[in-house]
Amino acid sequence: MPNTHMPTIKLFNTWTRKAEAFKSITEGEVGIYTCGPTVYHNAHIGNMRAFIFADVLRRTFDYAGYKVNHVMNITDVGHLTDDGDLGEDKMLVAMRREGLNAWDIAKKYTEVFFEHAAKLNIRKPDHVPCATDHIKEQIDMVQKLEEKGFTYKTSDGVYFDTSKIDDYGYLARLDIDGLQAGERVDMGEKKNLTDFALWKFSPKDAQRDMEWDSPWGVGFPGWHIECSAMSARYLGEHFDIHTGGIDHIPVHHTNEIAQSECAHGKKFVNYWMHVAFLNLKDGAKMSKSSGKFLTVDAFEDEGISPLAYRYLCLTTHYRMGMDFDWDSLKAAATGHRRLCERVQKLADGQSLDSVELSKAALAHKAKIDEALFDDLNTAKALGQVFTMLDADDVSGLEKAKLASLVDSIFCIDILSYAPPKADVPAEVQAMLEARNAARKDRDFAKADQLRDEITALGFVIEDTAQGSVVKRG
Ligand SMILES: [Zn+2]
Repeated sequence: MPNTHMPTIKLFNTWTRKAEAFKSITEGEVGIYTCGPTVYHNAHIGNMRAFIFADVLRRTFDYAGYKVNHVMNITDVGHLTDDGDLGEDKMLVAMRREGLNAWDIAKKYTEVFFEHAAKLNIRKPDHVPCATDHIKEQIDMVQKLEEKGFTYKTSDGVYFDTSKIDDYGYLARLDIDGLQAGERVDMGEKKNLTDFALWKFSPKDAQRDMEWDSPWGVGFPGWHIECSAMSARYLGEHFDIHTGGIDHIPVHHTNEIAQSECAHGKKFVNYWMHVAFLNLKDGAKMSKSSGKFLTVDAFEDEGISPLAYRYLCLTTHYRMGMDFDWDSLKAAATGHRRLCERVQKLADGQSLDSVELSKAALAHKAKIDEALFDDLNTAKALGQVFTMLDADDVSGLEKAKLASLVDSIFCIDILSYAPPKADVPAEVQAMLEARNAARKDRDFAKADQLRDEITALGFVIEDTAQGSVVKRG
């Protein structure tokens, strides 16, 4: 039974450039499609910001009581080095780099992607279809477009003729005439600058690891058609929400709309949601330890929990560009740890299931929810959580319960988080042990001196019944 008391969720729709009250196609249900990773390399932390956003979106609908069907594709074929069909296949670049065949590259990086996603508490979407498992659906769709007269063939593939539709480029508000006139790029045999490949032919003189028969010749699908074909397969030809990065707007999503609406003769998606870029500030572009570009692994190498990065992403609205440097990550790690410690102290290891929320507690919850349902304003919701924790009209257990409820969206392990051991360097741990030994020997002068040295390094000592522990101050 659909819940008739569903809260209103406002979402910013790129299609209309407005925040709109969300209305689902089927009452109480929501279908979400997220453009997934291209598995020819590790996903860097900017990519992961987009997947954290999609995860927060799906969890917000879960929290609000919707039945969610979340689909994310795995692009394991067809993504070229530039969006304009002219670059080299990214998979081929990776194969040269690593000496593996295309299938092994895709398998390797799909596994790594889900490992990284799990470390960020990103829930695996309900369906994660691979492009290579849905070649038939893609060929069927290209055939449909061909029958309706939207395609033409060149020597290297089958292309979509964008001049056949009036509102091509509306999502991106593209100035097509201006584009055609202003650009002087190599169009190959394309009729229009914005035309794009639906099917590419394998080179005549070489066999690819990934290639399939088709009515037009042996080859492989274009990148855009996979998302159109797989979203239709798992969500239907018309569905609620499509997400991606803002870089998807002008080409990839614009082309998905063109081919889906032309093939099916109906509106494709009701709400388009796009996450802004992560800007890596100078000096933060690479991993400190490995020198490679930044992935979740680099955080762990530095003794920082990946959840600190999730927390950092929550502190910035998804439509705002987010600057990243190591100092901001470290500050987020401290903020995250303190929040968890504070709530864990309030919960005091007790079960929160039976805690009844008072009127005052529900008023705090309403404010947190209001922020979340206002275009996923997690930063404001987090602020409301801190206001609630400071309030004197609710009990400690109510506070812990409220924090744990909202953590079903934040997913920063508020009740269970323990900082990585490396958070306290071995050197400080050794000083603490030396101090404990000095105290045992009743050498209080030495113990005090060690305490001062530990404090000077930014740590605090807590003497508990179980012995002394040290924490970051
Ligand atoms: Zn896509």
